[in-house]
Amino acid sequence: KATIRLDKMLGNLGYGTRSGIKLLIKQGAVTVNGIAVKDHGMQINPNLDEVVLDGEKIQYRDTVYVLLHKPAGVVSATEDHRDRTVIDLLDADLTVLSPFPVGRLDKDTEGLLLITNDGKLSHELLSPRKHVPKTYRALVAGAVGADDADAFLQGVTLDDGYVTMPAQLKVLAKSNGEGAPTADEEAFAGEMTSAKKLVPQQEELVAHETLCWIELTIHEGKFHQVKRMFEAVGKKVLYLRRISMGPLKLDPTLAPGEWRELTEEELESLR
Ligand code: URA
Repeated sequence: KATIRLDKMLGNLGYGTRSGIKLLIKQGAVTVNGIAVKDHGMQINPNLDEVVLDGEKIQYRDTVYVLLHKPAGVVSATEDHRDRTVIDLLDADLTVLSPFPVGRLDKDTEGLLLITNDGKLSHELLSPRKHVPKTYRALVAGAVGADDADAFLQGVTLDDGYVTMPAQLKVLAKSNGEGAPTADEEAFAGEMTSAKKLVPQQEELVAHETLCWIELTIHEGKFHQVKRMFEAVGKKVLYLRRISMGPLKLDPTLAPGEWRELTEEELESLR
């Protein structure tokens, strides 16, 4: 439908309650195409009509798509009585549209999180039948090797008996806890710093002989899946960051906690 009632449009944008908005309009605070209007039920075409409230042009929209670099310490929920949520990181003009995170990252996990109010898109990305790939980078305590890659490709049995679908594991770098940095370790210096700040038991970083940076792509999303897959092969994830979900990639210009709206191209790629 191309048109929407003026009071509904302003209400959807968070400008007040139905009665509050009615009053605003009655008081002459709103113009449509330069003319003061008194009819709060007037039909507006948001693409053609210029609506101005108290001298400010109103940009109407009803969908929102945000790419967030989730920082550690916030929860992937819309409300929480203890912790800050990913929604708390957004601006008020977006949160009035009731966006929610598409899937979850653990509180201590960083990285790409899509936030939208598009239920259909969310459903498609999360559908267990669609097998949308999700790629993670992790710092793992222990020597990850070809045997683990084989096991993940075959499927490993999690603590609840679930056998995982084939997943692709790459070892990006091995680092020796305290020893002289290898060339590989230098390449990961930035992420290492981030991990060191975040790993709750910092001793763990030096307690292990070998630490590995890995990249793992999974095609499903069980609870704590990446951490539990490594547990299944006797290793521990110390730091976890998601770098892609389907066609979406984590934007390297976004620091943890920063976000931006999706570009037209990104949105197209999801459709
Ligand atoms: N796997 C995990 O273990 N945690 C996450 O946050 C995401 C995937």
